Amino acid sequence: LEVIAAVEPRIAEATRQELADQRSSLKLIASENYASPAVLMTMGTWFSDKYAEGTVGHRFYAGCQNVDTVETLAAEHARELFGAPYAYVQPHSGIDANLVAFWSILANKVESPYLARMQAKNVNELSEADWETLRHEFGNQRLLGMSLDAGGHLTHGFRPNISGKMFHQQQYGTDPETGLLDYGAVAAKAREFKPLVLVAGYSAYPRRVNFAKMREIADEVGAVLMVDMAHFAGLVAGKVFTGEEDPVPYAHLTTTTTHKSLRGPRGGMVLAQEEFAADVDRGCPMVLGGPLSHVMAAKAVAFAEARQPSFQTYAQKVADNAKSLAEGFLTRGANLVTGGTDNHLVLLDVSSFGLTGRQAESALLDAGVVTNRNSVPADPNGAWYTSGVRLGTPALTTRGFGHEEFDTVAELIVDVLSNTEAGTTKAGGPSKASYVLGDGVADRVTKQSAEM
Ligand code: PLP
Repeated sequence: LEVIAAVEPRIAEATRQELADQRSSLKLIASENYASPAVLMTMGTWFSDKYAEGTVGHRFYAGCQNVDTVETLAAEHARELFGAPYAYVQPHSGIDANLVAFWSILANKVESPYLARMQAKNVNELSEADWETLRHEFGNQRLLGMSLDAGGHLTHGFRPNISGKMFHQQQYGTDPETGLLDYGAVAAKAREFKPLVLVAGYSAYPRRVNFAKMREIADEVGAVLMVDMAHFAGLVAGKVFTGEEDPVPYAHLTTTTTHKSLRGPRGGMVLAQEEFAADVDRGCPMVLGGPLSHVMAAKAVAFAEARQPSFQTYAQKVADNAKSLAEGFLTRGANLVTGGTDNHLVLLDVSSFGLTGRQAESALLDAGVVTNRNSVPADPNGAWYTSGVRLGTPALTTRGFGHEEFDTVAELIVDVLSNTEAGTTKAGGPSKASYVLGDGVADRVTKQSAEM
């Protein structure tokens, strides 16, 4: 920090403050974690200065021999870790990984004489009219993904996202009674809509998915199954999700982030069956420019960590702790979407406290509990105010929290929310709860966090 402070002290100070904040609060954001010092330090090296557009052994810049080592190792570790035939470790983020996957599917599956010529590397022969036809063919494809309010991600066909614009999209939800995925309903929608791409995976669905069933649905309608395991990649790597709950053998393409439950650097990755490998390999220039070599190096380190037996113990604890947290809420009368969890996250419906998700998030933050508000299925408060709070266990499990600590976390959260007063829970109401904390709740949270 001294080196940074000599140039821009305010950045050094913000960095120091971030560390202090992350240490003195309870990090329950389901997509966050604490990467190891080895992963963090690998990101701060000279690889950051190197350009390496292209792929291993086929770069558009000279002097990429060390980047080649890094990218080869990261991909090797990833293939071993997930049992995948092919791994592409260049995407800078989860969204990039999904874009690479979408364009690979289009390039692989859309039959087009223009595309064939393009793939034969005669791109220069394409006339403006050819390009126009190609744009029409690519832009006329269909995607079916999980809706945002059922727990899907923006990139799964949400209208305002590029995925909802580059494809004709439809969304599947969850059963209104149980909150659970209804495979029969997904199949019926797929039969009617006949998508080119069926997307499975989620950001806020607190249950496991049967990927064998999703593949059956995809096969029946001739769709490509793409699974976005960004949230639960750590549980797949740690062998908590095996058999039909492991997406990698079933999906044509599996995308992920590397920084959530997988506990690596911020970044993305695409795993693919052989059939799609050559198309995914064209991620650059299709979607990406120069890869972040320092981050690919950190991915290799994180994957090496995840291949250790200790990571399997960690992943199992993440899932066990989510159950403890859920039980902690249920025994105190709180409502959970789907009535519980069997992955790494819990979706707490805060409407019974008379609060919106936004008010709950705000009150919890002031008490030192960092969460994010989240829609619940068919949310009456919309996507901005919401009626839920999403809570995940990966970060605090890294800090060593177990059953008792998560029970205490549930107690603290229920305490804070029960003692929060809000004017109204309707959208358009106050943006921040005017709350009255019960005796010493904030102090207890801070103390709890400092002790652990
Ligand atoms: N896919 C899913 C399921 C996610 O939850 C997220 C992030 O929240 C992403 C993709 C996007 O990842 P990133 O923020 O790295 O672009």
